[in-house]
Amino acid sequence: MDEFSNSEEEYSSYWVEWFLQTKGNEYLCEVDEDFLSDRFNLTGLNSFVPHYSMALDLINDNFGNDSKKIDDETKRVVDDSAKKLYGLIHARFIVTARGLLKMAEKYRQGDFGRCPRTLCKGACVLPHGQHDYLGEGKVRLYCPKCEDIYTPKSSRHSNMDGAFFGTTFAPFFFLSYPNLIPRHNPNDQYTPRIFGFKVHHSAKVHRLQYRLMAPEFQLQARKRLGLEKPRSVEAPALGAATARAQKGESSPSAMN
Ligand SMILES: [Zn+2]
Repeated sequence: MDEFSNSEEEYSSYWVEWFLQTKGNEYLCEVDEDFLSDRFNLTGLNSFVPHYSMALDLINDNFGNDSKKIDDETKRVVDDSAKKLYGLIHARFIVTARGLLKMAEKYRQGDFGRCPRTLCKGACVLPHGQHDYLGEGKVRLYCPKCEDIYTPKSSRHSNMDGAFFGTTFAPFFFLSYPNLIPRHNPNDQYTPRIFGFKVHHSAKVHRLQYRLMAPEFQLQARKRLGLEKPRSVEAPALGAATARAQKGESSPSAMN
């Protein structure tokens, strides 16, 4: 649906409703009006989207008169800004008590889909962002059963910016609703078998030994133990100063 193909009245009256009903935006919940109208909740967001004021007017359905004065290209930019701005406000809203409640309802209904991992047996998933800033990554789905993240199956969902949910929401959600975390069953862990027999424990030891022999693993281990000193910027300068001191030269600063 293209909002500019609608009449001016429809365009200026139902922006949030239209946006939430657009295909691909099913993961979003409606931000409460009182949250949206409190400017404190929007602090700092003006630096993330162009035409911030007009975008906010569009979200709040106050854009009707202004829209007649500006050209179509600006309208398109304002509309794009409004979508991004609403997404960023949404990320802030869903970590409030009201927002968590709304998302919990959607989670219970399975609105976000189910885990694709076979042994999770259709556990409900939650949208999750790996970044908090726009344009840094798309939305992922977090499964509380296998504690892993997945790309949404549908491209219309997978194109949504991850910043509309942010990095805090999913962990905070399950901290707030621990009763919604599915029970972990040891039988949900897959056991590989060869001709019906479990793979012997010693096979894991062989794999580990093979890894230990790899040069990149040895380098990582040496770094972790502090045996491999990372290159620093100061080290050569200090080395040069020491060399000069040994030769009996004075440093440039001492000469002044
Ligand atoms: Zn899972």
